[in-house]
This record gives sequence, C-alpha cells and structure tokens, in this order.
Amino acid sequence: MAFESLTDKLQNVFKKLRGKGRLTEEDVKVALKEVKMALLEADVNFKVVKQFTKAVQERAVGQDVMNGLNPGQMVIKIVNEELVSLMGSETTELPLKQGNEITVIMMAGLQGAGKTTTVAKLAGKLKSKGKRPLLVACDVYRPAAITQLQVNGEKQGVEVFSMGDKQNPVDIAKAAIEHAKANQQNVVLIDTAGRLHVDENMMQELADIKANVNVDCTLLTVDAMTGQDAVNVAKTFAEKVGIDGVILTKMDGDTRGGAALSIKAVTGKPILYVGMGEKLSDLEQFYPERMASRILG
Ligand code: GDP
Repeated sequence: MAFESLTDKLQNVFKKLRGKGRLTEEDVKVALKEVKMALLEADVNFKVVKQFTKAVQERAVGQDVMNGLNPGQMVIKIVNEELVSLMGSETTELPLKQGNEITVIMMAGLQGAGKTTTVAKLAGKLKSKGKRPLLVACDVYRPAAITQLQVNGEKQGVEVFSMGDKQNPVDIAKAAIEHAKANQQNVVLIDTAGRLHVDENMMQELADIKANVNVDCTLLTVDAMTGQDAVNVAKTFAEKVGIDGVILTKMDGDTRGGAALSIKAVTGKPILYVGMGEKLSDLEQFYPERMASRILG
C-alpha cells in the first residue's frame, strides 16, 4: 500500500514533538527538516516539498502554537491541513450533465498506465449511479486494446462502440456520439490510443478529437508507480493537450505515493479518482482529506 514508509517517518517526527511542553522555533525547524526528508523519500516533487515545508513553518512558529496546549498535536493539525490543501482541498466531481444530455469524457494516457482498465471501471461506476454510459474504442493502433475494452465492457454490462482499426479516431468519436443519441446513452467515454512515450502524434490526435468533438472533460490516467514521471507526464499533457483532471492508478502497489501529493501542485489539475487494484471495482473517488488522514496514519 502507498505511503507506508512516509506514514512511519511522519509519526516518528510527531512522537518526538509530543513530549515537549512548549515548541521553540528550533524544535519546529528540526521537525520540519525531518518532514522534508520524509516527503522527498516518498518521491514528492522537490519544489512542492519546499513550498509545503515553508507553509507549515510559517504557521507553526506563529501564534497558533504559542497558545497551543499540545505543540505536537498542533503541528500534526497544521501538517494535515497543508497536505489537504496540497491535494486540492475539495473533491472534484465529473461535470455530468442532467437527464438525456450527453456528457463526453475523453481518456488519455501512456500505454500501460491503466487507461483501458480505468475507463471500464469508470463506466461501471457511472452505471451504478444510474447513468447510461457508452464506451468508445478509439485506440486504432492496437487491435488488442479494442478487444480488451470489449471484454471489460462486457464484464461491466456496458456497450462498447467500435469501428475496428481502419477508421480515424475523430470519425469514430463522432459516430459514437450519434450512436449514443440514438440509444439514449448519456455518458460517452472515449478510450484513446496510448503510446509508450509522450509524442507529437499522440498529442495531435487528442487535439484533433477535441477540435472536432464537443469534449466536456479530458481525464489523464497516470501510473502512481512511476512517481515523478507520472507528474511530468501530467504536466506535459496539461500544457499541450489541456486536461481537466487526473486518475492516478496502481495506488494499491508499493508506490511511495509522491505523485498523489505532487500532481495538483505541479499541474494545477486535480486528481478525481484513484485506481486501487486490477479488479474492475477497484476505483475510488479521490478525497484529499481522507488521503491526508491515510498519510498521517
Ligand atoms: P493501458 O495500456 O493504459 O490501457 O493499460 P491497461 O488498462 O491495459 O493496464 C495495464 C496494466 O495495469 C494491466 O495489467 C492492469 O490490470 C493494471 N492496472 C490498471 N489499473 C490498476 C490499478 O489501479 N492497480 C493495479 N494493481 N493494477 C492496475
């Protein structure tokens, strides 16, 4: 599970503070140095760590702590609040439209990040909320990706729209929306092609779909196990394609968890969901507060 080591380290820092009657500036400094190390070891982006510890430091040596009865608890409270704020404070919901009006969601991501699995997970979640989703196979470069989507769609009881691998993704997306209209489906989930690395063709294809289809929300799937790479990929997509949010997969693995703490601060885009396993039910909405509590243990 993510964050195990970070949680242990933070708890050690807080334990040392707990015994103190009053907190001096020096105590805070020493504690924050350890917090800083722990975050860096958890693979949190360097700049994010710097901003974070600065924010905590400013608050911790301020009035709050001077009047505080239990300095250790006060620091934990501040660290908790700053962690929540780092991850975006509020939970971000999908911009789902009401009734029969169709919401178009485009899924982007590098090959292997978990995009095809995640889009099927999301379809299942939407279905259980009473929505009528349609999955769309726009990865025309890997026939296996189309089959994988069909298999997962079937497991979820969600229709998969495919035109094989000979049409271009823009035409497939347009036809899928017409299909959804004709069949009273109200969320269209477009699974786009993934590549091994960020490349111009992939970016162009996503831009083309966006230019020709009314996409309401672009979600990027990134793999938490890749740590800072995931953050860099998200930054590039945010700048080049424009994304509305991120789904962070494989948070059940032994990732150090740094991506979860860095993505919002680095890209300005929130995490909406986290993937917690290979099963199609293993997708959780992202709550910054719950994640912060999990980190603090
Ligand atoms: P794509 O190339 O981005 O479409 O990736 P896939 O959907 O094919 O997923 C790649 C691999 O990651 C598959 O083996 C998935 O089962 C696995 N995977 C996806 N999401 C998760 C997750 O949240 N946790 C774990 N442990 N594995 C995942």
